[in-house]
Amino acid sequence: MYYIDPHIHMISRVTDDYQRMAQCGCVAISEPAFWAGFDRGSAEGFRDYFRHLTEVEPKRAAQFGIRHYAWLCINAKEAENVALSREVIALIPEYLDKPNVLGIGEIGLNKNTRNEATIFQEHVDLAMKTNELILIHTPHLEDKYKGTRMIIDMLKEDKRVDPQRVLIDHVEEHTVRQALDNGFWCGMTLYPTTKCTPERAVDIIEMVGTERIMANSAGDWGKSNPLAVPEMIQEMKRRGHPEAAIRKIVYENPLAFFRQSNRWQDWPAETGEERKESQSRRKEKVTQ
Ligand SMILES: [Zn+2]
Repeated sequence: MYYIDPHIHMISRVTDDYQRMAQCGCVAISEPAFWAGFDRGSAEGFRDYFRHLTEVEPKRAAQFGIRHYAWLCINAKEAENVALSREVIALIPEYLDKPNVLGIGEIGLNKNTRNEATIFQEHVDLAMKTNELILIHTPHLEDKYKGTRMIIDMLKEDKRVDPQRVLIDHVEEHTVRQALDNGFWCGMTLYPTTKCTPERAVDIIEMVGTERIMANSAGDWGKSNPLAVPEMIQEMKRRGHPEAAIRKIVYENPLAFFRQSNRWQDWPAETGEERKESQSRRKEKVTQ
């Protein structure tokens, strides 16, 4: 089955991971900007990072037929430094016309501090002024419920924000409804043992259904599995979920969300049903 991994940090992965993902059916990924495993010393460090996300990583992915897309921001962890964050936000527009950029992300909260909230709102303001999609990081563990509430409140306060153009990530059992009920898209981040496992993700799908929800592997500096989405596909198959429901979660939903960005490109060689559909469209054109 073809799938899209909508949130994976390939900068922290080896090239073999691309190969294994392609072998499992991965056709596209999106890589949000995040923490580098250490706090960067200056805004110039981010300039190099944005070049990595928009120039280096797409070439590495292309070797395996995987489309690579990226999101730009200063992550919540480093956003505690307001002065540095403002310098980074000021340089983002230079990179917004790179062909693989889908929007602003992953922005959000880490420890739910006032500084993080200020920088979150300034990122949202940039996204609104530049008409970009938004990808949101919600805090982990005990900070998650309160942080998700704070994020949703800030988004609702800004009347320019259309929830259909925002993806709230790392949702779990106790936050998924907050995101969905307010009209946002949401992502479940699959980890091997801690946080949301593939089994728990399938429990969540059984609880809330298949609308506006997707799953990703995160694949970051911590212990993580770049093949977590295929693992979840297996778990859904094992429980007898129909092929169409699985495909909706791992392929059609991310596609529908990303297509709202005018830099998303549908692949020339479509897959499966889409190929059949476009062949019949082409035939119609020929016979017209
Ligand atoms: Zn992330």
